[in-house]
Amino acid sequence: MDATPGLTHVPIGVLSPERFSGVLDPLQEERFRAAVERVGKAFEGRIVWNVNSTAQGGGVAEMLRSLLAYARGAGVDARWVVIPGTPDFFAITKRIHNHLHGFPGDGGPLGAAEREAYRGVTEPSARELTELLRPGDVVIVHDPQPAALCRTAKEAGAVVIWRCHVGLDRPNDLARGAWDFLRPHVLPADAYVFSRRAYAWEGLDGGRVTVVPPSIDAFSSKNQQLSEEQVSSILAAAGLSPNGETASPTFAREDGSTGTVVRPATLHGDSGTLPNDAPLVVQVSRWDRLKDPLGVLLGFATHVAPRSDAHLAVVGPSVEGVADDPEGADVLRETEAALEGLPAGVRARIHLVSLPMEDGEENAAIVNAIQRRADIVVQKSLAEGFGLTVTEAMWKGRPVIGTRIGGIQDQIVPGLTGLLLDDPLDLRAYGEAVLTLLADPARAREMGREGQRRIRDQFLGPRHLTQYLELISALMGSGEEGTRDSPAEPAIG
Ligand code: UDP
Repeated sequence: MDATPGLTHVPIGVLSPERFSGVLDPLQEERFRAAVERVGKAFEGRIVWNVNSTAQGGGVAEMLRSLLAYARGAGVDARWVVIPGTPDFFAITKRIHNHLHGFPGDGGPLGAAEREAYRGVTEPSARELTELLRPGDVVIVHDPQPAALCRTAKEAGAVVIWRCHVGLDRPNDLARGAWDFLRPHVLPADAYVFSRRAYAWEGLDGGRVTVVPPSIDAFSSKNQQLSEEQVSSILAAAGLSPNGETASPTFAREDGSTGTVVRPATLHGDSGTLPNDAPLVVQVSRWDRLKDPLGVLLGFATHVAPRSDAHLAVVGPSVEGVADDPEGADVLRETEAALEGLPAGVRARIHLVSLPMEDGEENAAIVNAIQRRADIVVQKSLAEGFGLTVTEAMWKGRPVIGTRIGGIQDQIVPGLTGLLLDDPLDLRAYGEAVLTLLADPARAREMGREGQRRIRDQFLGPRHLTQYLELISALMGSGEEGTRDSPAEPAIG
């Protein structure tokens, strides 16, 4: 990575959109092909800049890496820059993130001092980006951290899209406060993109709002097909499975070369390795209170462990590896302390795992293997923008139990592809749901197959990229505010 004191330019690969022929149904394929064919002239001489605050860790970085590579493969000059920040800045933006989800986070305010600090850190990045822009370039600003760049990019003559990946189903005062904080920065954008209709903020011109649900890359190290042998070899190479056989802990890298898992994961407390033959329940997510790792662990210990022989793995990134997430280390420590407080018999069936982050694709391959090893995947979030981990698990044919929250409810069809929990805090209901699927493995497997079909139809990259290409083309074509037609939204149902 080319690190400068200011913006970091993240290298992007080039992937051919052709790869998807055969994966999509004919209608999807046609729409995708048409969008790609239109790119040629329309995007000539323009750069499509993407701005966010981390190159790895979390869903946004995950999506950008592959979508931008397919965009480049389609002939778009897509670039990715990451703004720098200080610990104080990331503490404020994490607070904004929590408030956007309706939660108080660290309990601190979003007042005049925070506005000032936010502006102070983002101003140099805004200046630097402005110097790189040419009129007609497109700038897509992702999430609160770089939101301030919307106004300056617009003033520099770019077509600007504010892309908000977080939101909540029913806004509260905290969310409204965060909207008020950010709105002056994002208001000048030409389009506001949200993952769900319900996430669109009050006080934005509804005519400029477009809904674009996220997606996954079917071929990335995170989601590519792995044989059973690869799964067990990767788990063994990462020190997660008891058999020491590491014949081929390999995966296909984005650039076509073969990657090998060499770095070990960390098993916290006195967690042993994952079982070879007992059923395994898994949650993978950042160490964030809103993902409720504590609830996943305690609900399993109290309601599942006494009535089954299943094991649980709670998995996240190594906490040094995610630059814009200052709470990670605390949350991991809290979860570890809770594990240590459990009786030894239960403790032996719960595995608290953090994964190496030095090599993003190696990390992804380990996540892939863990998700494929799972019999049931849970995502017991208290708040969730979309929940890519749900998409990933469904794509791998796993039944998923998730909370009826945010984008999780757009993905899981209860009773068909998994189960939805109405009350995120009801640990008994969570335990019952896990026990229900453990008791009927044939039904669980059928749910997995249905889930995979659903992701193929609605949540793969081509649908996502098509929507962006259509939106950008419409914005470039209109020139005038409010005169464009919104690109068609996908039918999520
Ligand atoms: N993830 C990962 N390594 C980890 C933990 C999580 O690559 O050790 C990924 C996970 O597979 C998913 C993303 O981080 O792709 C999390 O996205 P999601 O939408 O679930 O939540 P977010 O982190 O954006 O709140």
